[in-house]
Amino acid sequence: MSYRVVCPKCKKAANVSGSTTCPSCGAQIDIPQAGMIQIYRMGNFIGGAAAAGIYINGVPYGHVGNRSTVQIPLPFGTYKLHMTMGMNRRCNDPEITLTPEKPVAYLKMHIRMGVFSNTQVIEPADPASMPPVE
Ligand SMILES: [Zn+2]
Repeated sequence: MSYRVVCPKCKKAANVSGSTTCPSCGAQIDIPQAGMIQIYRMGNFIGGAAAAGIYINGVPYGHVGNRSTVQIPLPFGTYKLHMTMGMNRRCNDPEITLTPEKPVAYLKMHIRMGVFSNTQVIEPADPASMPPVE
């Protein structure tokens, strides 16, 4: 199991499995031991090959593949979540709050087809419905 983190120094997103050093710049990365956002990108024919970009409070957190899960450890707080699909930046931009009572936000992302453009929709999901994380 690995976690998606952003290096505090070079701001590059990386997958790590424990507190470690940044693969890009070598800075120490400490994984927050508080809350976590878990996002599952639901399978979809539309944009299946496109990279889905993840942004938290405007900070790029890398990508998530089709039918894949990403786990992002974060301190408690409120975060604005945004996802892109290739060049498409239309998203419902939900606000996610992580608290000691509710430390993990389980979310699923799907694409809502529109007449003029599609929209990335991020919605809360039942934890029991989340696919297992490799
Ligand atoms: Zn770095």
